[in-house]
Amino acid sequence: MTDFLPFALPDVGDEEIAEVIDSIRSGWLTTGPKTKRFELAFAEFMGGNNESIAVNSATAGLHIALEAAQITAGDEVITTPYTFTATAEVVRYLGADPVFVDIDPGTFNIDAAGIERAVTPRTKAIIPVHFAGLACDMDAIIGIARRHGLRIIEDAAHALPTTYRGRMIGSMNTDAAVFSFYATKTITTGEGGMIVTGQKQLADRCRIMRLHGISRDAFDRYTSTKPAWYYEVIAPGFKYNMTDVAAALGIEQLKKARRFQKIREQMAAAYDEAFRDLPILLPPHAPEGDMHAWHLYVIRLADHAPVNRDRFIEKMYEKGIGCSVHFIPLHIHPYWRDRYKLKPFDYPHAYHAYERAVSLPLYTRMTADDQNRVIAAVRALLA
Ligand SMILES: *Cc1c(COP(=O)(O)O)cnc(C)c1O
Repeated sequence: MTDFLPFALPDVGDEEIAEVIDSIRSGWLTTGPKTKRFELAFAEFMGGNNESIAVNSATAGLHIALEAAQITAGDEVITTPYTFTATAEVVRYLGADPVFVDIDPGTFNIDAAGIERAVTPRTKAIIPVHFAGLACDMDAIIGIARRHGLRIIEDAAHALPTTYRGRMIGSMNTDAAVFSFYATKTITTGEGGMIVTGQKQLADRCRIMRLHGISRDAFDRYTSTKPAWYYEVIAPGFKYNMTDVAAALGIEQLKKARRFQKIREQMAAAYDEAFRDLPILLPPHAPEGDMHAWHLYVIRLADHAPVNRDRFIEKMYEKGIGCSVHFIPLHIHPYWRDRYKLKPFDYPHAYHAYERAVSLPLYTRMTADDQNRVIAAVRALLA
């Protein structure tokens, strides 16, 4: 029996390790010069027109980006049920209500036409999620936001690097995009996130709220006349700052982001090629000329497949291969289901996709042999 092949593994090399050791030796363990460097490098990666604000998770970033966009109690925020709970829980942090709109069954992404129908006088924002690293229909979403005066905060947790009509996600004309550097994401800092925005006011508010509501502006304004211990608290902020130890990982991971994407893209193509004749629906691709981040490779088992989804994952596990499911849609989780009285078929496309979806291992540390092992196992079950 060969070793267990996990569903995901981070790809951290000697460069990251050296940078982390340098941080530890320097004495700067919390937010300091490396966090600043990581933010500047990230802004540059996004094309240089936007500001980047590092935080300790994408969840934290989504929370304070929504706060900075002035989402408050009683507001409605439109998002997809086909996502991780973080996307919608942050809306509840602010006392607002998520309103779910079903996915386009072809792309797993929120259906733009459905957004337009869900807008009410209480609607204040849209949170599109670029599922698996494939961009949402941003032209349509931005058009709807303009027509109804809504803010757009993109959940870009899967979308590094992703492009939409040639533009990097993170440089679109939206209020903000938030990336995740959780251990399984396309680049990682262990835990971490980045808010990217072109709006100075929003960036300033996020910088204040990520660290206890302490105003840097007030601080800077007074540093010439007051001693260095002086600061002003202007809001009940949060403890969401990134550490320099995490930023050290991020600086080196970001340098590899394009290479990682190429590897993921090639692996996705190899899976496509190997599965073409099987009773499965292959994952959608980015349109010609655009980039898919390939954070996830999600297949859907056909109804006539010889095994169902649960059995398929069990059998893969028996063969020593880890699989996962992205996502258990929010509307069938007890909290969301009960709070908003939702039924599985309220979002039929999300529910249908969920029942058939399997995420196969796809990460840069997999060897060709590892991938061939996955392919052989899938073919043995489905061919
Ligand atoms: C991972 C993930 C998040 C949360 O990211 P964290 O950095 O772990 O907070 C949010 N949304 C989606 C779609 C995710 O997959």
